[in-house]
Amino acid sequence: MIKAIKGVKDLLPEETPRWRLIEETARRWALRYGFQEVRVPIFETTTLFARSIGATTDIVEKEMYTFPDRDGSSLTLRPERTAGAVRAFIEHNRAADPRPQKFCYLGPMFRHERPQAGRLRQFHQFGVESFGMSDPRADVEVLSLLWRMLYDLSLPGLTLELNNLGYAEDRARYKPTLVTYLKGVEAQLCSNCRRRIDANPLRVLDCKVPECRTATDGAPRLADALSPEARAHFDRVTSGLQALGIPFHLNHRLVRGLDYYCLTAFEVTCSHLGAQNAVGAGGRYDGLVEQLGGPVVPAVGFAVGLERIALMLPEESAIGATPRVYVAAFGTAAAAVGFTLLDELRRTGVPADMDFRAASLKAHLRQADRLRSLYAVILGDDEVAQGRVTIRNMQTKAQEEITLSEVSSTLQTRLLTP
Ligand code: ATP
Ligand code: MG
Repeated sequence: MIKAIKGVKDLLPEETPRWRLIEETARRWALRYGFQEVRVPIFETTTLFARSIGATTDIVEKEMYTFPDRDGSSLTLRPERTAGAVRAFIEHNRAADPRPQKFCYLGPMFRHERPQAGRLRQFHQFGVESFGMSDPRADVEVLSLLWRMLYDLSLPGLTLELNNLGYAEDRARYKPTLVTYLKGVEAQLCSNCRRRIDANPLRVLDCKVPECRTATDGAPRLADALSPEARAHFDRVTSGLQALGIPFHLNHRLVRGLDYYCLTAFEVTCSHLGAQNAVGAGGRYDGLVEQLGGPVVPAVGFAVGLERIALMLPEESAIGATPRVYVAAFGTAAAAVGFTLLDELRRTGVPADMDFRAASLKAHLRQADRLRSLYAVILGDDEVAQGRVTIRNMQTKAQEEITLSEVSSTLQTRLLTP
């Protein structure tokens, strides 16, 4: 038997209604905020990700699905979407368009990680990128979209955490003090963090290993090294959130795994998710467009993981809808008429179904029950000869006889009028 690859997931009919609810909610909110959908390829040249995400990040170091194309060039399945969005933004010269360039997207991402609940190798993200505005209100706008969208889905136990990563110069000024401190506590750090001291020291602050957290409790803080401009930007973000009534916590350890962030960085966590508790994350990335060969364009965005939202979504949020009408046609003549009737119902907007394996009335009604149909249209050869059918209410079991020609208009009135 051929099985699915480790770390990927099939979504069966019981699950897809929840996913559609998440996707529709996300798209609706994005549109309300003026974000328009873009679709970019699932694979890109490897350099795009290596250059944007950062060589010493988990993603680039060990999580990318990279493979040689037939001509030998290196391709990678996208591990995230910002790099692709920026590449498209530059390639299509969107900076020249005076309208706001606010994009949203939804689709699969690929990372070679250890699979577990809420962590897959093919997973799905919904995200937004807002290009061109350095105003702190752009940060507040994406944060409010993220918050309100998750709130609309009634997700339990959400927390929004924020940090100010400052400008690259601020971090450059801060790094040597941090490195000195980390060298002093090196013996207490996990092997991963010991390696990070030189490669990516800020990431040590973000490590989840308890010993590392204790060791870095007394570390000098980036907040104390920030320039007045970086502080001013962040102050306007936090006051903007307060004005909109969006609750948040400051978290000086929040660094984010990707190199391109500056100023505002954030994460939404959920207390019901266990170890993989991050629902979504994002931040400002003012230098990325330029870094990838485009003009200087400020930008801010986020991505949320749909698998983790699906895990948290209240059970009753979305239940699959099966066709409301079942056509129970049995007997040779009736089967032919029933099949035409089925088509007529569907054409006129009535969701209808029939199991072609059932031959007897009893078998048909059993399937109508299993499909949770509201009505069954019963017709046998005798009824067909008289041009009449029976409509059975599957809940009350009440039956009534009407003419064949009235069926679709009768069911339309009952099912489609509000
Ligand atoms: P984590 O700390 O959980 O690894 P991350 O910082 O790598 O998250 P991002 O790159 O910021 O995650 O992606 C944003 C969101 O995408 C995450 O908050 C999470 O909900 C989701 N996500 C990331 N990786 C995976 C994965 N392997 N499987 C499922 N969802 C994921
Ligand atoms: Mg990760």
